[in-house]
Amino acid sequence: MNRFDYVRPRSVAEAVAAAAQPGSAYLAAGTNLLDLMKIGVARPARLVDLNHLPGLDAIEELPEGGVRVGARVRNADLAHDSAFSRRFPAVAEALLSGASGQLRNVATVGGNLLQRTRCAYFQDTASACNRRDPGSGCDARGGENRLHAVLGWSEHCIATHPSDFCVPLVALDAVVEIEGPSGAREVPLRDFHLLPGTTPERESVLAPGELIVALRLPPGAADFAAHARYVKLRERTSYAFAVVSAAAALRMADGRIAEARIALGGVAAKPWRAAEAEASLAGATPDAAAFRRAAEIALAEAKPSGENGFKIELARRIVARALSLAAAGTPDRLPALPASPFAPVPGGRHG
Ligand code: SF4
Repeated sequence: MNRFDYVRPRSVAEAVAAAAQPGSAYLAAGTNLLDLMKIGVARPARLVDLNHLPGLDAIEELPEGGVRVGARVRNADLAHDSAFSRRFPAVAEALLSGASGQLRNVATVGGNLLQRTRCAYFQDTASACNRRDPGSGCDARGGENRLHAVLGWSEHCIATHPSDFCVPLVALDAVVEIEGPSGAREVPLRDFHLLPGTTPERESVLAPGELIVALRLPPGAADFAAHARYVKLRERTSYAFAVVSAAAALRMADGRIAEARIALGGVAAKPWRAAEAEASLAGATPDAAAFRRAAEIALAEAKPSGENGFKIELARRIVARALSLAAAGTPDRLPALPASPFAPVPGGRHG
């Protein structure tokens, strides 16, 4: 572990000023950053500790009907906030699908967005990795890559983004509030993470020194509360990242789908919104054929980046499954039990 300065600012303005020094990194719960520092993948010259900043730990109902979640709100606190989980059940379900109880108790909303990929070669400093060491190559190509990306990848990097939380947030048009050396700005979460292209080391639109201060869900996001689910398929029942996952949210009117939202996790370097698949469901009857068609559209551009072609059909099935569960209705007990991909669909109507 390298030597580093430690700074504990008392305000957002002080934090941003402290992080202006090159090589600085913000420290929230540290559930990802500290691990990466211990194995030599992250080597910040200065840690700017956000844990004592006032004003970033509130969940606020907004006057026009949306909600604003401070960047320091803990994952568990947000998932178990009854007003929030009632209005945004798929987000709560995704939060409870992530990590472990202990990690969710400390991990923050802002930190969740900025998780680094869990590509094993990224975490091994003896391996070539363009994301960690630009220009060095990518040992995942031709290596162990069955969990890598099938959408939006490039020859330079085939990693996936590990967050569950971001998947329904992208489906529901969440917005990221940012403060930085040049002032405040907002970015739709959908545009926040970057695909690798030729510069996989650039993972988000954040400029040096910029700090996430809050997330916002717009008023219309709660209109999907009665039909919203997050389904995650993983290699063991808990404490594992998604092989593939999907958030599905439907707004129903007169027995038909008035509006659909779909996003996928575990398939790309960013949470993947499936806008064309959503459009295919507008006005449709919620049945297995419509859901399978939407799933085909969602994965139409997918291609294996290695030994991971199986993920494409798996992702189609998880999208159709999430849509079926959403159409059957959000269960009353959410978020006590995150959805199992293997659970029967209530009523068994949608296959
Ligand atoms: Fe690095 Fe990306 Fe290749 Fe993994 S897939 S080794 S993160 S460049």
